Amino acid sequence: MSVPPELMSVLAKLESVLPEDRPVPLHQPLFQSNEWDYVKDCIDTGWVSSAGGYVTKFEQLLSEYTGVEHVVATVNGTAALHMAVLLAGVERDDEVLVPSLTFVATANAVSYLGARPHLVDVNPHTLGVDPDKLAMYLKEIVEVQQGVSTNRITGRPLRALVVMHAYGHPAELDHIQSICEQYSIVMIEDAAEALGSFYQGRHVGNWGRLSVLSFNGNKVVTTGGGGAILTGDPLLAKRAHHITTTAKQQHPWSYNHDEIGYNYRMPNLNAALGCAQMEHLPRYIKRKRALAERYRTAFAELTEVDIVSEPEHCRSNYWLTNLMLAPVIRDQRDVLLRVCHERGILARPVWELMHRLPMYQECPRTDLSQAESIASRLISLPSSVSLEPDND
Ligand SMILES: *Cc1c(COP(=O)(O)O)cnc(C)c1O
Repeated sequence: MSVPPELMSVLAKLESVLPEDRPVPLHQPLFQSNEWDYVKDCIDTGWVSSAGGYVTKFEQLLSEYTGVEHVVATVNGTAALHMAVLLAGVERDDEVLVPSLTFVATANAVSYLGARPHLVDVNPHTLGVDPDKLAMYLKEIVEVQQGVSTNRITGRPLRALVVMHAYGHPAELDHIQSICEQYSIVMIEDAAEALGSFYQGRHVGNWGRLSVLSFNGNKVVTTGGGGAILTGDPLLAKRAHHITTTAKQQHPWSYNHDEIGYNYRMPNLNAALGCAQMEHLPRYIKRKRALAERYRTAFAELTEVDIVSEPEHCRSNYWLTNLMLAPVIRDQRDVLLRVCHERGILARPVWELMHRLPMYQECPRTDLSQAESIASRLISLPSSVSLEPDND
């Protein structure tokens, strides 16, 4: 396919940052040292499943790194989200505010409980929930009665809000948190992509009553598959541990379960990988930030595109570096993606917005013009740690 003239310089800059070896995947894991030893240790000792020292160790490492007191490791980020929404007290027929610009798991977790996602717009600078727009909207539609916010239009309780830190860039947590407090709405952080991201000097996951991480193969730290529930509340942590372990009552031999629980705990084998990955985390983030900087420098002189930068007062892990096309070339997005793929540059568009998916088309929603605008112009660029040399 021939390259349209207005994309020639964009492509040339992209080629200048990337290696000649193709294909260049969007995000590849990197295993450098103790991964093999720790996984082998699980196999040698037979501790591969849901009990074993690496799970506790991994939870401790995450707690130390994020500063969130309690961590419960799960089979994946989606399961962690499911549990976080449940533990927030969301029940059937409740509504939960969710950004339309997110990965589908955020909305699905709400649906698993029979509740309904209520889609809200995002801010173009943070790519996360827009607090000003949210505040104006809630003022219009919410009726507060006895500490419960009800959607005046549907008559349903608005129980929780899930903020998602898109591509690792933190949303405006303090503003959003104070709005949630005002309306007695529980704030949950979907920090699946944001391990290593800080808002006002504190790691994300410290603002929500409950927060969630993912360790899928494409995330900053991987356990193959995995996730975690984070909370500062010891009682919620205890319940998180209990319901993700089939609600089994602790006993040396008997099987007693006091509610319908889930088999959602992370196996030791996966946690072993995670423990080794955590040893690299600070260096990996340094390299990802350096890669973003290299992209930024390369594209600096082009007016038709921008590299998405970390929001103010934030330190982002730059999970993925994103290119934002100027409105004048927005109609070239798919052409650019196609040309990239032809050259083995496996760039990606944003997820299909939630309100465009068949199962979420009928969900209540705000004006979503910013999400629409971003979705039509954003392209995620290859962002593997391995693309940047290790300068330590
Ligand atoms: C990856 C991701 C999840 C889900 O994590 P899994 O571990 O793949 O289940 C949830 N939300 C967001 C925003 C994600 O990027």
